[in-house]
Amino acid sequence: MSEQLTIALTKGRILKETLPMLARAGIEPLEDLSSSRKLLFQTSREDVRLVILRGTDVPTYVRHGAAQVGVVGKDILMEQGAEGLYEPLDLGIAECRLMTAAKVGWIHEGSRVRVATKFVNIARDYFSRQGMQVDLIKLYGAMELAPIMDLADVIVDIVDTGNTLRANGMEPLEEIARISSRLVVNKASLRSRHEQITAVVDALAAVVQGN
Ligand code: AMP
Repeated sequence: MSEQLTIALTKGRILKETLPMLARAGIEPLEDLSSSRKLLFQTSREDVRLVILRGTDVPTYVRHGAAQVGVVGKDILMEQGAEGLYEPLDLGIAECRLMTAAKVGWIHEGSRVRVATKFVNIARDYFSRQGMQVDLIKLYGAMELAPIMDLADVIVDIVDTGNTLRANGMEPLEEIARISSRLVVNKASLRSRHEQITAVVDALAAVVQGN
């Protein structure tokens, strides 16, 4: 058997959509992931194992070669930068939009805008391209609370149905980027284990095409 290939998956909604695609590519975990507290799983393919991580940690594992392949949201790749990674495939799953949003009826009145987000790098880039000077406030979750609590005027967050914004008296303003999950590959591994990795990338590409 060739050395095992480790695929790092993002837990949560991305995982739910990734597993059926992997199954169609012939890679199925040997145990039910949802009923296990384990984080590392062997699969129906002897040469492939899966590790389940927070999305923000997937690029780190793949960049350092602890996993050779990963599945992660484009939002995280944009925020962290893609150094050391190839991004060979858009899986077309977990689609959503990265947007600015504010309280319904909020008007920019010339003073410096306070922007709360966990995507500070993306936000800094975006507002500087708009020629706007903003005060960035880093949060780790529940961005939609910040305008209600008068911590910020605007948030930068992921919007899918828009229900979270609506439920909190907010509305989307501008679209910063369209987001979906991407396959990422460690650059050095792609050279040293080319055949093994391209086989997985090609199999998943065929599944995406068939969708
Ligand atoms: P929604 O209420 O449908 O607009 O969903 C918005 C919230 O769900 C956001 O605050 C995100 O935290 C989360 N969310 C929705 N879609 C995704 C996705 N594809 N990837 C990551 N988080 C998401």
